[in-house]
Amino acid sequence: MNPRLLRILLFSAISLSVLLAVWIVDRSEQAHYQERVRSIVLRRTSGVRAQLEGALNRRLFFNRGLVAHVATNPNITQSEFEVLAEILVAQQAGIRSLQLAKNSVVSHIHPLKGNEVAMGRDLLKSPARRPAVERSIETERLVVGGPTELLQGGIALIGYTPIFLKPAKPSDAATYWGLAMTVIDLEPLLREAGVIEGTHRLRLAIRGKDGVGATGDVFFGEGNLFESNPVLADISFPNGSWQMAAAPMSGWDSLAPGTWKLRFGGCFLVLMIAVLAWVLAREPERLQQAVNRATVALAESETRLRTLAKLSPVGLFHADTEGRCLYVSEHWCEVSGFSAEEAKGDGWVRSVHPEDRERIVNGWAEAVRTGQSFEAEFRLQHPGGKTIWVFGQSVAEMDESGKVTGHVGAATNITERKDAEAEASRHQAELAHVLRLSTMGEMASGIAHELNQPLTAIVNYSRGSIIRLGQRGADSDSALIEVLEHISNLAVRAGDIIRRLRSFVRKEEPKRVLVQLNGVVREAMHFFEEEARRAEIALQLELSREDIWVLADSVQIEQVVLNLVRNGLEALSGNGHESGLLSIKTAALDQHLVQVAVRDNGKGIPEAALPHIFDPFFTTRPGGMGVGLSISRSIVEAHGGDIHVVNNSDGGCTFQFTLPVRNGANADDA
Ligand code: ADP
Repeated sequence: MNPRLLRILLFSAISLSVLLAVWIVDRSEQAHYQERVRSIVLRRTSGVRAQLEGALNRRLFFNRGLVAHVATNPNITQSEFEVLAEILVAQQAGIRSLQLAKNSVVSHIHPLKGNEVAMGRDLLKSPARRPAVERSIETERLVVGGPTELLQGGIALIGYTPIFLKPAKPSDAATYWGLAMTVIDLEPLLREAGVIEGTHRLRLAIRGKDGVGATGDVFFGEGNLFESNPVLADISFPNGSWQMAAAPMSGWDSLAPGTWKLRFGGCFLVLMIAVLAWVLAREPERLQQAVNRATVALAESETRLRTLAKLSPVGLFHADTEGRCLYVSEHWCEVSGFSAEEAKGDGWVRSVHPEDRERIVNGWAEAVRTGQSFEAEFRLQHPGGKTIWVFGQSVAEMDESGKVTGHVGAATNITERKDAEAEASRHQAELAHVLRLSTMGEMASGIAHELNQPLTAIVNYSRGSIIRLGQRGADSDSALIEVLEHISNLAVRAGDIIRRLRSFVRKEEPKRVLVQLNGVVREAMHFFEEEARRAEIALQLELSREDIWVLADSVQIEQVVLNLVRNGLEALSGNGHESGLLSIKTAALDQHLVQVAVRDNGKGIPEAALPHIFDPFFTTRPGGMGVGLSISRSIVEAHGGDIHVVNNSDGGCTFQFTLPVRNGANADDA
């Protein structure tokens, strides 16, 4: 059966049971309450009955006095009667009158006043009175008649007692004299007994007119009270009775106190159970929906995560609490050169470069043991031997209680950075070398200055010696003079070299002035004359015939020419070239531009190297620094020209740079 339906049925059964229980309790409570009410009504009714009986019997008592008197004084006169009656009723309220009816005809009345109309009335002829009168005479006892409406007005009960005169002889029958009567006002009687305006808080009705009990007519209260299950009480008096019915003012159907609380409470309970049932019946469905939503969200999130892992430029991995690899992303495989299957468990360890393996395995084991995060830079070695630098990091995954449930991490390829760092440190070393060279340059400047003096002295001494020998005119000294002249020339030449060296390494602020380009080129070429001669390389100068002025820092331009010529010489000498030729040509391209071309017939430049030849630190020479061409280009471009290289069709290459021309007339602009 459908579990939801089952739950609904179960809760319906519980609700019904509760309702039934409430109903049973309610019923028994009502029954109990009715019992209590009835017993209260009975108690109060008994009280009223006792009072009514007392009040009535007290009033009927007067008949006895009358009977006793008349039986002994049958000829009693009205006045005698009045005296007697007055004494009898002196203390008793509610007595309308005392009467005597001789031979059943009213003959004496007290008080007469107001009751005159009754005098002389034959009671046996009155249909209303006759039954009671006859019964009284027949039974020879007190009979209570009425209530009856009196001729003189008002409603009253009448107690009839027959009076029999004692016979002269006991054997004779007693003679009927007449009747003694007490006329009792009904209302004061009922009032005194508490039937009217009593404290009983009951609805009352009395029946039994003429004292005939339950069969008599109702003379007080509502007759239908007898039909509605009343508490009944018999009011007894001599030779008759009435029946009194009593019921609570609110009737018998009133509810026990707290009934509505019980009923509302029960209904509320049932309502609560119904609500609970509804909620509980819905809850599993709601939970199921929540689980479904969460499952979908989880699947989406996982897909997203996998996509991210795919797109991520870092390799991702996941390991269990023991640090064994469970998953690696595609990118991890690319970085490491290992497959996901190979990486599983401890397989990934083999991807770590043997030199870094111990450090990484120990570091990882420590991180797993302490639940700490892990970070390290290390090398991975592809199965093919290629080495990759990675930055590996991981953190421990924890559940809500802080227990480690695994480790996740990433490996980022940092090979480029590492290469750049290596390159930078190489450049640093080269820079240090440059620094040493520059220091050496400064030292060379000092040395040149120091050497200049002795060289000048040598020149002066040798010239002085030549003059003295010439004055003596000794032929035999001519060979000596020749030697001295030679010494003098060499010293002059050495002085020139030193001077050039000094001016070359002199540290000066760059300053641009109008210079003759051909002069600068010529000056630079002096540096290489000796070297070229030794290396048997022909240096060829093809300078423009007219002077070309440029606005330039002559030292810097000289530097460019030096760089280019040095590179050319190196290309030729390293080659073991037979007929090395290096030419330098200056020519005005037009009015505005002059070009310097340095051409050699060396090995030329490989096509692949051409785009990088002017890059800083690009070199193919062992021990080369790769800064010469880069500096040359900076200088040329700073002067408003440009520089490029082409391989010659017949071998070697030609470097050409241009500079803007300045006519001599514009020299003042400088
Ligand atoms: P370095 O001379 O220190 O290597 P350069 O910047 O002067 O640095 O030169 C860069 C590279 O250009 C050289 O290593 C060489 O390979 C190439 N190169 C320069 N000039 C020539 C040339 N005339 N012939 C052949 N190759 C040249």
